[in-house]
Amino acid sequence: MKAAEIRQTFLKFFESKGHQIVASSPVVPGDDPTLLFTNAGMNQFKDVFLGFDKRAYTRATTSQKCIRAGGKHNDLDNVGYTARHHTFFEMLGNFSFGDYFKHDAISYAWELLTVHFKLPAEKLWVTVYEEDDEAYEIWNKTVGVPAERIVRIGDNKGARYMSDNFWMMGDTGPCGPCTEIFYDHGPDVAGGPPGSAEQDGDRYIEIWNNVFMQFNRTEDGVMHKLPKPSVDTGMGLERLAAVLQHVHSNYEIDTFVNLLAAAKKAVDEAGGGDCDAISPSLKVIADHIRACSFTVVDGVIPGNAGRGYVLRRIARRAIRHGYKLGARTPFFHKLVHALAAEMGDAYPELRQAEKRVTDVLKQEEERFFQTIATGMEILEGALAQGGNVDGDTAFKLHDTYGFPVDLTADVCRERGVTVDEARFHELLEEQKNRARAAGKFKMAQGLAYSGAATTFHGYEHLVCETSKVTAIYID
Ligand code: ATP
Ligand code: MG
Ligand code: MG
Ligand code: MG
Repeated sequence: MKAAEIRQTFLKFFESKGHQIVASSPVVPGDDPTLLFTNAGMNQFKDVFLGFDKRAYTRATTSQKCIRAGGKHNDLDNVGYTARHHTFFEMLGNFSFGDYFKHDAISYAWELLTVHFKLPAEKLWVTVYEEDDEAYEIWNKTVGVPAERIVRIGDNKGARYMSDNFWMMGDTGPCGPCTEIFYDHGPDVAGGPPGSAEQDGDRYIEIWNNVFMQFNRTEDGVMHKLPKPSVDTGMGLERLAAVLQHVHSNYEIDTFVNLLAAAKKAVDEAGGGDCDAISPSLKVIADHIRACSFTVVDGVIPGNAGRGYVLRRIARRAIRHGYKLGARTPFFHKLVHALAAEMGDAYPELRQAEKRVTDVLKQEEERFFQTIATGMEILEGALAQGGNVDGDTAFKLHDTYGFPVDLTADVCRERGVTVDEARFHELLEEQKNRARAAGKFKMAQGLAYSGAATTFHGYEHLVCETSKVTAIYID
């Protein structure tokens, strides 16, 4: 079953259960300053959960474009290292706004997976929030999942890949206990079941999270009860496609096959020769072109702050991986065409913006290709000395050669060393302070000499006055 068919089957199933099919919202959230990028299907319904907004329906289903490359849910560092993480992915979801709750959510999920997608029940594991006896009973008694495949999990803030069965959109916003469904890819893959010490592998892959939305967490950390208990679910389309297409890695599913081939071709033509077709770097490139293209479609352009900087970091990380494979001239922007061919039916906005996206990424790429060779030489020099890379080198790479620190860290990780990020951030802070002071000084000078009646009261005094004009600061 191809990804497009899986998406349709999901939406149609929930439509048959009385859900309204709603279009994906943009990856750039409309008016939510707490959020860098849309990170889950529920984002566009946040105010409905909170009771501030009302819709004509109480049940909805979506396939949502998501980006997890910053903020609370950040998977940028996982891409290229796990079989299941992307920076951009599609989240299939069903939502109940004060309508059905735990019983129906769990029953629907099970019916869809085992009857419609025909997944063998014995390959499915579930987790529940440790205190959630109700969810446990529904899984065990109503659905019939044996106790040995139901795991209770608390707010696990421990290991990197550990489950955490209390879902939060961010540090603030709707949240609640959840129950997750895992698929066992079999003993050929390393990794233990959910909740076990060996879970840091990719054998048992989380495919679906069902969140029982019950609270709104405010900045002070207080959990306020929502007006009505609700349901918010999210299933990664790519992860489900991997299961249904009998492959282990998301990167082997139909939507990635052509994209990976296009990436190889573009890298080869740019100097890669005949690069390794199964290199993790090609996966990183294929992943990143999706995130970069969809963010540009929604109006972001590469820059030095906020969303623009996230975009720049992803783009440059991809370019560096191409460089690693031998590319010496721009190649990345050429993949936009292949992506539009692959995903343009599902997301026509991509096809409409194809030329603009290509141009924006090409410009960014041309810019980075001017400095990447020298930057890489410096980094290689530092690595050749053995040991970890110091913060001063990382800062120089950032400041002069346009290497975002996570790019430097990515190279270091490949070599089994780390970069001193603490020192890097210290230097960055110092630079910002200098820029701030210089900004104030400029304003001080300007004020001192422009107003005819101004008497010079000294630097301190003027700084005080002008410090209200924050817009001049560079950060
Ligand atoms: P994981 O533990 O594997 O990182 P998660 O618990 O962070 O996943 P949720 O926040 O529960 O993920 O999101 C709901 C679903 O979205 C997941 O069950 C998974 O199928 C999918 N998903 C989450 N993150 C990614 C990602 N980076 N790439 C692809 N799919 C993802
Ligand atoms: Mg995660
Ligand atoms: Mg998880
Ligand atoms: Mg989860």
